[in-house]
Amino acid sequence: MGDLEYSNILLFSGGIDSTALAFSMRPDLALTVDYGQVCADAEILASEQICSTLGVEHEAVEVDCSDFGTGSLSPNEQVEEGPTPEWWPFRNQFLITVAAMKGVQIGADNIVVGTVEGDSDHADGQADFFRSMDEVVYGQEGSLHVRVPAICSTTVELVEQSGVPERILLWSHSCHVSNHPCGECRGCQKHYEVIEQSF
Ligand SMILES: [Zn+2]
Repeated sequence: MGDLEYSNILLFSGGIDSTALAFSMRPDLALTVDYGQVCADAEILASEQICSTLGVEHEAVEVDCSDFGTGSLSPNEQVEEGPTPEWWPFRNQFLITVAAMKGVQIGADNIVVGTVEGDSDHADGQADFFRSMDEVVYGQEGSLHVRVPAICSTTVELVEQSGVPERILLWSHSCHVSNHPCGECRGCQKHYEVIEQSF
């Protein structure tokens, strides 16, 4: 499977990491999943704006899992064993699966995920997890690989290597808890720190 038209699908949240990757790799399709996260509208808006500026095809899909979410990204209470306030069980596994379904539909070769070194607070942000997902996905029909090109880079390194300009990064949405940046959550803090260190 796979054709030249759709080689890479980038899972695109409209945040800093996936925006830097969208800029440097110009994926054939950027896919934003509304899985019921409270900031989905802002992520979709940011993604549409960034993709239209870059000339990258964008698609938003809605697969509502908000009943099963926990923590700051969801409308529900955080469960006690969550490693961070925004942890949502099996989130990355789910997002990769949705992207892989889309990948088979359009004959893509790779699902690209914008996870960076600093996301390893969650098991589903670690290199071992992505190796396992690649095996699970590639082991099925469709010949799809899961790629995580920035897994050994910090966000600041990724931004620098990608060459993404500040004017594009400023469209990105990082807040976990709201469609309007709260200025206080871990997503907002990271956003301001990275912009300050990078430009
Ligand atoms: Zn915030």
